[in-house]
Amino acid sequence: MRIAVIGGGPAGLFFSLLMKQRHPQDEIVVHERNAANATYGWGVVFSDIALAFLKEADEAFFRKFTAHHTRCDYMEIVHQGVPVRLSNNHFSRTARIDMLRVLQQACAEAGVDVRYQSHVTDPAQLSDADVIVAADGVNSEVRTHLAEDFMPSFDERRNKFAWYGTARLFHPVSLIFRQTPHGVFMAHAYQYSPDRSTFLVEVDPETWQRCGLDTAAEDESRAFCEQIFADDLQGHSLLTNRSNWFQARVVGNARWSHRNVVLLGDALRSVHFSLGSGTRMAMQDAIALFEALSAHRNDVQAAFASFEQSRRGASDRFQDAARRSLDWYESVGQRMHLDPVSFAYDYMLRTGRVSHEDLRERDPTFVAQVEANAASALHGHAA
Ligand SMILES: Cc1cc2nc3c(=O)[nH]c(=O)nc-3n(C[C@H](O)[C@H](O)[C@H](O)COP(=O)(O)OP(=O)(O)OC[C@H]3O[C@@H](n4cnc5c(N)ncnc54)[C@H](O)[C@@H]3O)c2cc1C
Repeated sequence: MRIAVIGGGPAGLFFSLLMKQRHPQDEIVVHERNAANATYGWGVVFSDIALAFLKEADEAFFRKFTAHHTRCDYMEIVHQGVPVRLSNNHFSRTARIDMLRVLQQACAEAGVDVRYQSHVTDPAQLSDADVIVAADGVNSEVRTHLAEDFMPSFDERRNKFAWYGTARLFHPVSLIFRQTPHGVFMAHAYQYSPDRSTFLVEVDPETWQRCGLDTAAEDESRAFCEQIFADDLQGHSLLTNRSNWFQARVVGNARWSHRNVVLLGDALRSVHFSLGSGTRMAMQDAIALFEALSAHRNDVQAAFASFEQSRRGASDRFQDAARRSLDWYESVGQRMHLDPVSFAYDYMLRTGRVSHEDLRERDPTFVAQVEANAASALHGHAA
């Protein structure tokens, strides 16, 4: 089989690796528009649940993939300057560039032909391929080119984000909320290497405009955010790497494939990074497409149908949860009056996927604090 993959991110590379390992006779070419060592941003975070599927799919690769990950088994919600610890939330982090390096190296060892600085916008450029996998990310040019066939939908969300790094090491995944006279600022921070943390700043558009960030240059925005989070950064500065403000865009597609072209990863469907799951979804897609093409070697349409059948349900449920999570962050102003424990509790229940009893099992100390809070509030009302 001749397979052309457009996009050398986690979706395209992991799919190519699995296919080449199982079917060494297949010709697999990955076209990546960037150079091998180019990447945007800083770290990537995975929950343990997110990594369990990878271990199941390819244990040897899982060991290589996680060898340099930084781990922590709790997270913190910082509200009113008070950190609330949430135990038994296991997270593993790595630099995005290291993650891509491990995937690139495994692909090279398996015999995948990865061509860098190879920009493909129209699948017609790859007319000799039996299968074309469009794994070209959230702004997929292939999807745009075939928009009438894939029928994509876009939900532009309102909050603004800028992705910074810092040398201040946030050992737990930390969500920091700061009330300012202009409005609420939020930061999603976590250490991903021995000397770096990701520091993603989120703010609603009205606050952003009131602060003049709509016209600020990259470095002015960095300096402003540094002041807002001065207590949290403890004297460290924020670092930039094309840290321009952007908005989240939730992408979906009515059709997942057209003729011999199939969408994969963020090109197919984006979730929100507040759940830290875009890479996980992309890699799960890769496994499902690999399994479908292995089961239907001589029938590409049957393989695509089987791929969609195995992933559509989970993908839709995940996107619903991502939307609820986005809603929570976009309406956080309504919750800023809550005390730190009640605020953290509200955060944990935001997507509807975690119940009070789930939380009790995960962190009985925290749930005891929540219940004590509720009891004293009741007592206060009764008195
Ligand atoms: C600010 C931010 C923070 C994030 N944090 C996390 C996190 O903590 N955890 C997590 O799991 N996920 C996170 N994500 C999401 C994650 O980066 C993506 O969901 C994931 O990388 C999707 O993988 P992909 O392979 O589908 O797409 P991508 O990683 O976007 O890869 C697509 C590749 O295709 C290439 N390409 C694009 N167009 C073409 C073309 N026409 N021809 C050739 N090549 C092309 C691109 O250069 C790129 O290398 C974050 C995203 C953002 C924006």
